[in-house]
Amino acid sequence: MDALELACVSKRYGGRSALSEVSLQLEEGAALGLLGPNGAGKTTALRLLLGFARPSSGGVSLRGQDPRDARARVGVGYLPERLVLPERTRVDDFLRFHGSLAGIGGADREQAVHDALKLTDLASRARDRLGTLSKGLRQRVGFAQALMGRPALLLLDEPTSGLDPLGVRDAREWILRAREQGTTILVSSHVLSEVERTCDRVAILHEGSLLADGRLDEVLRDGESLEDAFVRLVRGEAAAS
Ligand code: ATP
Repeated sequence: MDALELACVSKRYGGRSALSEVSLQLEEGAALGLLGPNGAGKTTALRLLLGFARPSSGGVSLRGQDPRDARARVGVGYLPERLVLPERTRVDDFLRFHGSLAGIGGADREQAVHDALKLTDLASRARDRLGTLSKGLRQRVGFAQALMGRPALLLLDEPTSGLDPLGVRDAREWILRAREQGTTILVSSHVLSEVERTCDRVAILHEGSLLADGRLDEVLRDGESLEDAFVRLVRGEAAAS
């Protein structure tokens, strides 16, 4: 069974089309980079997959289930593009709360909080209030909550946003480690070099339509970088329209 599927999905907001007849499947254990210029529809696709929005037409499923059913989202870690954190809550309490949401209880939850803080290098900030953290540290908290409990599926929306070079490298390692543990990954990103390093598949959206979808070696022409392919596909589309 696929970890996730969009089947001929369209999403309109008023008169504006955010996604247009997009079909995409991701098999268990794969890592897909979802690329596209600003406004291409990447966040919309993630929000549909999480059941936060409904498609105008077409079908969306998470491991064969409707993502609007909360049970389908068990075992799904999500790092949103815009993190909204409860400013007065302390880092470790926030992670405890997320552990509970992920169905981790008791001593296991304390261990999961400890592991997440250690992994994301936040142990020394555990008792800090979220509102006092810098942008990059907030992003680390976002990663910590998304990775808690070793999710089977990880949806990351622009994960390197706000991270310094060390943080970008750490994020790469977290993603690669999750892959080694068998987690299926969908990452929306503008940082193509990171996508090349962490993903085996890419999908390129442009103005709500899917321009390309496949293994990196299928999408890239001989000797081409992902950036070259991105420019070729998006520019080619602009020239054709
Ligand atoms: P970026 O790279 O800039 O984050 P994106 O690829 O994630 O862009 P989306 O956020 O999915 O793009 O937006 C796709 C289109 O849908 C844009 O034109 C956006 O303005 C529009 N859109 C998204 N959400 C809404 C909404 N809630 N109401 C109205 N329009 C929306």
